[in-house]
Amino acid sequence: MTQPRGFETLAIHAGQEPDPVTGAVVPPIFQTSTFKQDGVGGLRGGYEYSRAGNPTRTALEECLAALEAGTRASAFASGLAAEDCVIRAVCALGDHVIIPDDAYGGSLRLLRMVLSRWGLTSTAVNVGDADAVRAAIRPETRLIWCETPTNPLLGIADIPALAAVAHEAGALLAVDNTFASPYLQQPLTLGADIVMHSTTKYIGGHSDVIGGAAVVRDEELAEKVHFHQFAVGAIAGPFDAWLTLRGIKTLAVRMDRHCDNAEQIADALEEHPLVTRVLYPGLPGHPGHEIASKQMRRFGGMISFQVDGGEQAATDVCGRTQLFTLAESLGGVESLIEHPARMTHLSAKGTPQEVPDNLVRISVGIERADDLIADLVQALN
Ligand code: PLP
Repeated sequence: MTQPRGFETLAIHAGQEPDPVTGAVVPPIFQTSTFKQDGVGGLRGGYEYSRAGNPTRTALEECLAALEAGTRASAFASGLAAEDCVIRAVCALGDHVIIPDDAYGGSLRLLRMVLSRWGLTSTAVNVGDADAVRAAIRPETRLIWCETPTNPLLGIADIPALAAVAHEAGALLAVDNTFASPYLQQPLTLGADIVMHSTTKYIGGHSDVIGGAAVVRDEELAEKVHFHQFAVGAIAGPFDAWLTLRGIKTLAVRMDRHCDNAEQIADALEEHPLVTRVLYPGLPGHPGHEIASKQMRRFGGMISFQVDGGEQAATDVCGRTQLFTLAESLGGVESLIEHPARMTHLSAKGTPQEVPDNLVRISVGIERADDLIADLVQALN
């Protein structure tokens, strides 16, 4: 029996055998829309048209499936394309979806402003409280959508508890694993039915490509997602798939450095007199620390913090950093800073999901920790 391979090995080898024709060690970019047939229906490698399948995308999908301990992955043009596909593949007219009350704003927008027009209803709930989720279940609830840690408040949901609530109700549990990455958390092994990623973030890791993924274990569900993607067409292009796959190879080493740096920065922020609250699941005082310790290998590279002095003080900090670049997105090797209330989460303004205006979110990169701490301290002072 061959020994099961470790995460770091799978990241470099799963789906990435040297090319059988040329021996190319790195999977080539198959920049082609279509494939020659040897007589009608005579497909050489199983490929006919790149919306249905492309070898570069297959390499990425096989790697993603291995890293998430799933059976099949589908790679999309963006994280939101993956979400849209998953929700439409499993839900039908009149179905109900439960979503975190502090979900990524784009997920809330998709359900409330787009999918609602196609007959889906949704309820925003604190998914950190499994009893509140159970109370929100309706006979027509088909899907519980969960994000853990959440963006930008770093809330933690108990994946096994939510899986139990979903399955009792005959619903499915989907987990947006973007903040953790499969290196830190594997929701399918904790009972979830579907894992979704914005691969734009840690999986790609270099802020140079937009992409998304959905990974499942159940074959029937995999077929539904795959069919829906094929029918709608929100696929990752060959070059984007290749860039994402190149990023994946270093996911484990990058994540360890993101975590090392974030742990030191969270401690330094806690000490700073102008910081009133630090949101990082690795801190023992974080309300989700215990659950995060059970289901995550480490606590990730995202930190949010509140500053004394309201919105002006928070935007001033964002404007004064020199190493942390003021920009949306996250998960790249370079550190980013942003003001969620006026940037990524502006669309939640005036709703119960509005985020505090003195909140600053940082995506801690893999630069030297001392340099990053010095930059934040000078911006806060
Ligand atoms: N999920 C989370 C947690 C995100 O942070 C984002 C984007 O910021 C998305 C989904 C959407 O991904 P994309 O921007 O790749 O469509």
